[in-house]
Amino acid sequence: MSTIFTKIVKGEIPSYKIAETEKFYAFLDINPLAKGHTLVIPKLETDYIFDIEDEDIAEMIVFAKKIGLAMEANIPCKRIGMAVLGLEVPHAHIHLIPINTVYDIDFKQPKLKLESAEFEAIADSIKTTFELNN
Ligand code: AMP
Repeated sequence: MSTIFTKIVKGEIPSYKIAETEKFYAFLDINPLAKGHTLVIPKLETDYIFDIEDEDIAEMIVFAKKIGLAMEANIPCKRIGMAVLGLEVPHAHIHLIPINTVYDIDFKQPKLKLESAEFEAIADSIKTTFELNN
């Protein structure tokens, strides 16, 4: 059975999409630790990130870097933190999270509840910058 993220890539489940390439897809985390919290995933369903081929994981990180820079331009923060857990969804993903302190990337913190319009506005702003710069 497909993962929830494969269903997102195929458009079977909606997402607040930021950008995609032939191999990767970036979209807002639905339970964000901070405004702009983004997930970068491979389109090829792979559970464990370290099972991704060397060339592809390198490309995935470069894609994540470009997304992170577009986030930084739109979300006030000290920097963008990167984390990989993969304990919940068995489809590799990099978390990109705007942070000011170490506590902002603590996954035990309560998640933000945002309205759909706010998710859309955040995704649109990051997407616009990403498209301008790439
Ligand atoms: P983890 O596997 O522990 O890295 O966590 C999976 C992440 O995926 C969590 O932060 C969830 O909020 C996020 N997530 C799960 N389902 C969705 C979805 N349909 N759209 C966006 N993010 C999701």
